Amino acid sequence: VTTFSGKTVALFGLGGSGLVTALALKEGGAHVVACDDNPAKMTEAAAKGIGTGDLRQLDWSKVSALILSPGVPLTHPEPHWSAKLANEAGVEIIGDIELFCRERARIAPDAPFVAITGTNGKSTTTALIAHILREAGRDVQMGGNIGTAILSLEPPSDSRIHVIECSSFQIDLAPSLAPTVGVHLNLSPDHIDRHGTMESYAAIKERLVAKAQQAVIGIDDGLSRAIADTCTAKGVKVTRISIEPMGAEGFFADGTTLVQVTPSDAVAVADLAGIGSLRGSHNAQNAAAAVAVAVALGVSGEKIRSGLYTFPGLPHRMEEVGRIRSTLFINDSKATNADSTEKALKSFDNILWILGGKPKEGGIEPLKEYFPKIRKAYLIGAATEEFAKTLGNGVPYVRSGTLDNAVQQAAADAAAMNGPSVVLLSPACASYDQFPNYEVRGNHFRELVRALPGVEAKGA
Ligand code: ADP
Repeated sequence: VTTFSGKTVALFGLGGSGLVTALALKEGGAHVVACDDNPAKMTEAAAKGIGTGDLRQLDWSKVSALILSPGVPLTHPEPHWSAKLANEAGVEIIGDIELFCRERARIAPDAPFVAITGTNGKSTTTALIAHILREAGRDVQMGGNIGTAILSLEPPSDSRIHVIECSSFQIDLAPSLAPTVGVHLNLSPDHIDRHGTMESYAAIKERLVAKAQQAVIGIDDGLSRAIADTCTAKGVKVTRISIEPMGAEGFFADGTTLVQVTPSDAVAVADLAGIGSLRGSHNAQNAAAAVAVAVALGVSGEKIRSGLYTFPGLPHRMEEVGRIRSTLFINDSKATNADSTEKALKSFDNILWILGGKPKEGGIEPLKEYFPKIRKAYLIGAATEEFAKTLGNGVPYVRSGTLDNAVQQAAADAAAMNGPSVVLLSPACASYDQFPNYEVRGNHFRELVRALPGVEAKGA
């Protein structure tokens, strides 16, 4: 990126995307001074030829911009020290998505660009949009908050579509973000601790869609509905999506049927029944959004349906990993809180539920209404005693201790029980007591299932 060619830029945060961004700036002729709290990251950057230094020692009057990694606090609870220095010097603070937007404006201002945000479902929707477009033969670059850092992707061009997941941090650091199609899925109080108030969190999300040429907006919560109305009032072309029947122009899910509402008509465009990677009403919202985007980009109904049917889904989100006769094994390791686990419990019946880990506040109390769907629970990790208490006398459970034991026990119980069962790892807990992260936990579960006798493995 050449935006800062010949200029000095400060960069804080040398995680994966920070390092990529520093290299892209350097290649574009900028003089980069990169910094991180972790000295090992500084050493790694220096080894790649990136200039590093203490930003506190910089002459900020000579600095053109501060590039911040997403997740480094810009305002709340208070600005990071590097942001304070930049603010005092009147230096702009931006992120990698802003650098992409400026490069796009310079080299291919009409290059198709889809940006996706929301509290939940961003990654699934981003991956589904990219999959549908690829299946339809388009040249797609997918990344941002999912997978590849945006500046590692191929550059924008008129014949290539960028499909980019944006966290609120990234939107906050991208003042000129103006996508061809902007998607906002939903808002729930998840990250308010990091953004101050619900209003300021909503205002950030609104920016992504308000400046889009076309917007696709979920209207199933009040704040998102208000965002849709504001965008309409500002003259943005808005396609509304919902998981309830609605009269507004757009796409809604009626159970598993996706319906398109036009000014004159309402027609079924796809049926999600039987698509294992899109189970549950939350996925109906994601699918409605993806279909709306594909329609906006001119993909035919037939190609959209074939994209939906062949979507493999994302790992660790209600991922089908195997089957033994009528027992299905599901990896939902990404469910690190009760809210996420609720989606899985809603989506299945006859559940042999593997749960536990490092518990969050409130534990599994909010899930009590789903307990009648549980045939048996297998408790692992630090949450065991707390969860045993909540399960009480209503749900049979065992203290499995480890994930290894839980899988063996659940598989044996399923074989001995009548009728179909679902062995579901949906822990409602962080993994840190027994695993480095939810991915390692989910991968381990998948391996354990694949090693079971008689298993029919699924996926890669
Ligand atoms: P994100 O990228 O926003 O974190 P993901 O697509 O990775 O979202 O999904 C993470 C979890 O959030 C899923 O396992 C599921 O429990 C829940 N989820 C997914 N889509 C939605 C949705 N549209 N609304 C509410 N919750 C959702």
